[in-house]
Parts: sequence; C-alpha cells; structure tokens
Amino acid sequence: MPNEFDISVVIPLYNEEESLPELCNWISRVMIKHGFTYEVILIDDGSTDSSWEVIRQISEDNPAIKGLKFNRNYGKSAALNTGFKESRGEVVVSMDADLQDSPDEIPELYRMIREENYDLVSGWKRKRHDPITKTIPSRFFNFITRKISGIKLHDFNCGLKAYRSQVVKHVDVYGEMHRYIPVIAKWNGYSKIGEKVVEHRARKYGTTKFGFERFINGFLDLLSITFVSKFKRKPMHFFGTFGTLSFFTGLIITIYVIGNKLYSIHYSLPVRDVVEQPLFFLALVALIIGVQLFLTGFIAEMMAMKSQSSNEYLIVEKTGVKEKVIAK
Ligand code: UDP
Ligand code: MG
Repeated sequence: MPNEFDISVVIPLYNEEESLPELCNWISRVMIKHGFTYEVILIDDGSTDSSWEVIRQISEDNPAIKGLKFNRNYGKSAALNTGFKESRGEVVVSMDADLQDSPDEIPELYRMIREENYDLVSGWKRKRHDPITKTIPSRFFNFITRKISGIKLHDFNCGLKAYRSQVVKHVDVYGEMHRYIPVIAKWNGYSKIGEKVVEHRARKYGTTKFGFERFINGFLDLLSITFVSKFKRKPMHFFGTFGTLSFFTGLIITIYVIGNKLYSIHYSLPVRDVVEQPLFFLALVALIIGVQLFLTGFIAEMMAMKSQSSNEYLIVEKTGVKEKVIAK
C-alpha cells in the first residue's frame, strides 16, 4: 500500500492540556515551511485533564491533526504502539507532548531516513535540561543497554525518534518497552540505526509522568527483553542447559556419596549416615532444581509451539514464489 503522507508524527500524551495547542501549531508551521504532506496522531493515554477537549478543538481546525483516546491510562508504550499502527506516513516521527522535543528537528530526521537510508534515527539530548536525579541514572542505563545490545546510541530513551514506516509496523512496543525500541528494532533485523543530536528544552508546563520506579522498571525490562529475544523461539536451550548442568552435578555427588559409603564399609572404616553429610543435601537440591528447570523448559517450549508469533518471520522480498505455495 502506498503511503499517504510524507510524515506521520505520533505523540503519546497524558495530561498535557497546556502544551498541545502550541505543539501542534509549531509542527504545522514546520511542515508547511518544508512542503511536507503530513498527519499528526495524538494519542490521549487516558488523561484526566481537558487534553481530549483540546485535541478535538485542534483537529476540527486542522484536518491533518488526528486524535485517539484510550479509556484509561495504559502507559506510553501502549500509546506509541497504537499510534504506530495507525500511521500512514512514509516516515514516522515520535515525540513527547511536553514541548521538551523541538519539531524543528523533524526535517533533518526525515532526510536521514530518506537519503541516508537509516531504518531508525534516535534523538540524542546531548545537553539535557532535566534534574540531576534523572540524568545520572540515565547515563548508567544507556551504558548498560549499549553493552547488552551492541547498539552505539547515547540516549536510548529519547522521545524524539524517526522510523521508516516498515519498522513501526513490525515492531511491537508493549509493557514499558518504549525505552528499548532501538533494541527491539535491531532484533527484528532493522540494524541501520543512527543518531542525531537534538535540542532539548526544560519542561514548560506540567510535571514529569514517571517517578523513581522508572529506574527499577527500566532495568527489569532490559532483562526480560534480552531473555525473550534470545530464547523466545527456543526456551529449552536455556532451561535445558542449566537443568542438565544442575542434574548432572547432583548425580555425580550422589554417586560419590554412595561410593564413599560402600568403600568405607568394605574397608571397615568408620561410617557416617548418608543423611548426616552436607553433600547429600547439596545433591538433593541440585537434582530437584535440575528436574524443575527441565519441566519449565518443556512447558515454555509447548507455549512457544502454540503461540502464533513464534512462526512469524518477516519476509522482505519474494521472487519466483507463487502465492498459493506459501499460503498453504
Ligand atoms: N506519557 C503517556 N502516558 C503515560 C506517561 C507519559 O503518554 O502514562 C507521555 C507524556 O505525556 C509525554 C511523554 O509520554 O508526552 C513523555 O513523558 P514525560 O515528559 O513525563 O517523561 P520525561 O520527559 O520525564 O522522561
Ligand atoms: Mg518530558
């Protein structure tokens, strides 16, 4: 399907009534100045202020501005995901609604995707206007994420990013995974990921929507995304390896304990009851854990077999294949 617009701007928002009119005006100005065809998709993530009324007003005045409203607050990832699936632009730009990201960056991001062939370009808030309680942990997170993912970005969580349309259609952002979109994109095969230094401004209205728990959640998400992406299609490789190791450790200790006992009896050495030895308990625990891991592996494997997504592979091109053959 051909794309309807040059650019879709996707904006998740939660209680941002004051910023919206200014933000939309600014985006429209930039688009008109550069002659882009565009749409702006505002996703109201269950705001409790008058954000939705403001959005309705703006979209009546300007047909390029569209709004979607959630029935409750699902989180930034859900809002982004919905906006992505709704977008019709050739290049999709995501940005925060709080005016911390500047729409003036959009034309250059668009150019990088179109002309330099990037799949994804992430903003880098080199000079940040945020409190230090946010910037220092954030540096740490970026460092860890860089090491684990092997993607050379300075600022994974920047709200301002641009994507080739195909990327947002194939990347699913759930939970609070918006922090790791470049990582998910890379694991889906979109590995040409670039970075652009962007202007960052202090929050003009309202307050931040994420508290301290962002750091704990962020870390847990990184663990699960690493695990899931590696073992989703083959969970037994993970559980089976550790299960086997544990089981055999237990088995060897058991053999040793029994052997030791028989040896002692045979040569009339003083004998201890098997259950009085620490090694016996170690063997017991190792055997049980080994079996548990195996069973977990089997269950995970059955779930992987049943789940639809385990057989979804992205085909980018086909040649000489009759539709009937692949459509089973
Ligand atoms: N946001 C959202 N749903 C939420 C929390 C935040 O849609 O549950 C939006 C918020 O309105 C803003 C963007 O996500 O447009 C980034 O949030 P915020 O500026 O509070 O984050 P920070 O800049 O502090 O990282
Ligand atoms: Mg912000």
